[in-house]
This record gives sequence, structure tokens and C-alpha cells, in this order.
Amino acid sequence: MQGLTTAAGLSLAGCQNLLRKTPTAHVVVVGAGFGGATAAKTIRLLDAGIRVTLIEPKSHYTTCPASNWLFAGLTSLDKLTLDIRDLHGRYGVERMAATVAEIEPARRRLRLTDGQSVCYDRLILSPGIAFRWDAMAGYDQAAAESFPHAWQAGPGTLLLMRQLQTMPDGGVVIIAAPPDPYRCPPGPYERASMMAHWLKQYKPRSKILILDPKRSFSKQSLFEAGWTRHYGYGTANSLIEWHCLADNPITQFEQGNKTLISEFGDRFSGHVLNIIPPQTAAALALENGLTDKSGWCPVKPQTSQSVFDEFIHVIGDAAHFAPIPKSAFAANSEAKSCALAVVSLINGYEPTEPAWLNTCYSLIAPWHGVSVAGVYTLDDARAIVAVKGAGGISSSSSAENVALEADYARAAYRTLIGNTFA
Ligand SMILES: Cc1cc2nc3c(=O)[nH]c(=O)nc-3n(C[C@H](O)[C@H](O)[C@H](O)COP(=O)(O)OP(=O)(O)OC[C@H]3O[C@@H](n4cnc5c(N)ncnc54)[C@H](O)[C@@H]3O)c2cc1C
Repeated sequence: MQGLTTAAGLSLAGCQNLLRKTPTAHVVVVGAGFGGATAAKTIRLLDAGIRVTLIEPKSHYTTCPASNWLFAGLTSLDKLTLDIRDLHGRYGVERMAATVAEIEPARRRLRLTDGQSVCYDRLILSPGIAFRWDAMAGYDQAAAESFPHAWQAGPGTLLLMRQLQTMPDGGVVIIAAPPDPYRCPPGPYERASMMAHWLKQYKPRSKILILDPKRSFSKQSLFEAGWTRHYGYGTANSLIEWHCLADNPITQFEQGNKTLISEFGDRFSGHVLNIIPPQTAAALALENGLTDKSGWCPVKPQTSQSVFDEFIHVIGDAAHFAPIPKSAFAANSEAKSCALAVVSLINGYEPTEPAWLNTCYSLIAPWHGVSVAGVYTLDDARAIVAVKGAGGISSSSSAENVALEADYARAAYRTLIGNTFA
């Protein structure tokens, strides 16, 4: 297809097909989050002769990116929530407000929970994540109603914020971080930072304990430097403590006395407990045999086709695109590569060589931002590799630089929202 270039630099020469009357194929996209919304729109931009249906039950989508900023009082749930009902009208994407119950691969058909069926020539799934409720005794979906993980932004995020605001000065917040891989690697640490910023002003005798099953975490050196600068990290009065429990992970939660218990019997009690469970691909992928032992969907990276079914493509957090992290920026980038591949396959062209981008900004304080960026490509063995010398973490911690990074964080959020949903 003339004009199809790279995912990063989309050419819109496919728009020459705008006058085509009969659709060449029907692509169904499931999930209108960062991956699905981008994929649906991009396919139509590349080839308006393809019929695209986007299936999503929600009329409003609350973004996880920037949801941690709520804890510092920098945003509101309203500002994070988008009405996604008409967003794709201008691209000619057909919207269905529905939930997919089952995939029937032999018939290339989806069964919806309302009893309807939808046929596809190619299916793109971007259904996000699910939680492994069996991972910690005592913490399940019911417990999460009172002790929210807030890892799918919405009412749980608001509840967690209220719990922070109403705990006593001198109270303890516990953030139980998940093991790799999970949605948004820097997320728990940005959350601790934003909570600490609020506590420093209103409840300065309090403490946040991060209990981590990992030995290290994303942008660790930058976070620790920021915590030292703003929150007394490393001193007896630090607002934030990070505890590596890699050899002694948390295995149990006692709801009644708000206590987490480790494998060797260490007990951690707090006033506010934010337990972020281990994660897998969303139920739709799990229950339809698209995951492997890891709990994520293995794909052929060049086209994002499921290794189990060539007509199903999986993108976003549900898919295994390691070493690309599970982020909204990455889901948006994977969606563009996937759209290029799908349009090529439908039109009988060899899919082009993909490239992917990721940028993750985090705020440590409202005027202190840090970032990590990466560029990814395929190596000779067709595995995804980071391009050497491209990307990396913020290099300078000067006041001017971290303030600029904080501005970039806000701008990157706005750009990502526009790029995905507008
Ligand atoms: C606290 C926090 C902070 C974050 N901050 C950032 C950040 O700063 N930058 C960044 O890049 N990323 C960030 N992320 C990560 C980002 O939110 C995810 O990586 C991104 O949402 C993944 O997009 P997705 O399309 O894979 O899934 P989602 O955005 O979760 O979308 C999945 C959609 O699929 C729908 N769906 C699921 N199952 C079905 C079904 N059976 N039928 C129909 N529809 C279905 C769901 O309703 C949902 O709307 C953050 C995450 C968290 C938790």
C-alpha cells in the first residue's frame, strides 16, 4: 500500500480510498481504551474502505494516566473522565455499546452478553487487565470494595483519596506494589509521591510504607532522589519508606485489623491500605484461550497477531510486548503498528517493519517531574529490542530541569488524550 510508512510517522495516503463504496473487510475492535480507540481510528485514517466496529460497554472512560495526581489535589475525577460516545463519528467508526462474552474463532464471530453476534474478518482486542484475586489470602474482589487498588481509575480512586484525607495525622498508608509485569511500572511510586505531597501539607507526621515484591523499580534512582529532596527520604522522619520484600513477600491480608502478613510472618498494619494485586490479561483474553502460562497474550510482534489465531490481533496491556512496558503511550503506539499491519494484510501487502515508542512521565511533586522513554524495534530473530542509545531516563535533576519535566508530563497527558480519543 503506497504511503504506509512507519507507525510513528503515519502517512494518510490511504484516505484516497474514501470514495470506495463497498467495504473491503470488516475489522472489529474490542475495548475503547488507549489501544482500541487508537487502532479503530487509525485503520479508518489509513483505509476508509475498511468497515470498523468498536465495541465498548462504557459511555465514559476515566484515564488511569494522571489519576495519581488526584491524591495531591492536582486534578479531579471529572477532569479525568471522557465522554467517548461520539468520539469516533468523524472517522466513520461504528460504535457498539456492548460487552463481548465469547469469541468463536472458527466462525470469526463474537457473541455479546446481550445475545447479539458480530462477525469479523479481523479482530483487534485491547481489553486491558484483570487481577489475580487468588494471589493473596484475604484480598479478593469484595475486599477491594473497601480497600481499593485504584488500578482501574474511577470510584475506587476517589475512595482511596477520601481514606487518605480522613486518616489521622501520624497515620500509616501502606501501598502493596505488584510483581512484574503489571500496568504502569512507575505508577505505585508516583502514587506514593503524590500522597506524600498532600500529607506533607496536611498530616506531616504520617508515613507511607511501600511494600514491594520486586528488588528494584522503574526510575528508582530518580524517585529516591526526589523523595530525598521533598520528603526526607532516608531519614527517621521520612514521609516515604520503601521496603523490598523480594525474599519475604506479602501473602495474607487480615481485613479486620488492616494488617498485611508476609511469608515469614512479619506484620504490617496501617490506617489506609492500597493493595495493588498481581495482574493478567483481561478476562475476555484469558477465558478465550488467548493467554499462555504467563497470563498475558503472546503475539507475533510484527503484526500483533495472536500466536494462537492469525485473525486475532492483541494490543495494549493485555498483550505480551515486553520489553515495551505496559503503558497508555505504548498501547497507543502498538495500536498504530497493529493498524498498519491489519490494513496491509487486508490489502494483500507485506506488513512493514514496525517501530514502537514509549514515554512515561511521573510527578514526584507538582513542580518536579521525571521521565523514561524508549524506542523499540525487531532484531534479526524477530524479537522486540530496545534501540540502543535511544531513550533513557531524565538526565539532570536541576530545579529548572525537573520543573520542565513536570510541564512536559502535563503536556504529554493532554497530547496522548488528543491523539487517542479526539
Ligand atoms: C495509576 C495509573 C497511572 C498510570 N499512568 C500512566 C501514564 O502516566 N502514562 C501512561 O502511558 N500510562 C499510564 N498508565 C497505564 C495505562 O492506564 C494503561 O497502560 C492503558 O490504559 C492500557 O490501555 P489498554 O487499551 O490496553 O486498556 P484500557 O485502557 O484498560 O482499555 C480497555 C477497555 O476494554 C474494555 N473491555 C474489556 N473487556 C471487554 C469486553 N469483554 N467487551 C468489550 N469491552 C471490553 C474496557 O471497558 C476498557 O474500556 C497508568 C495506569 C495506572 C493504573
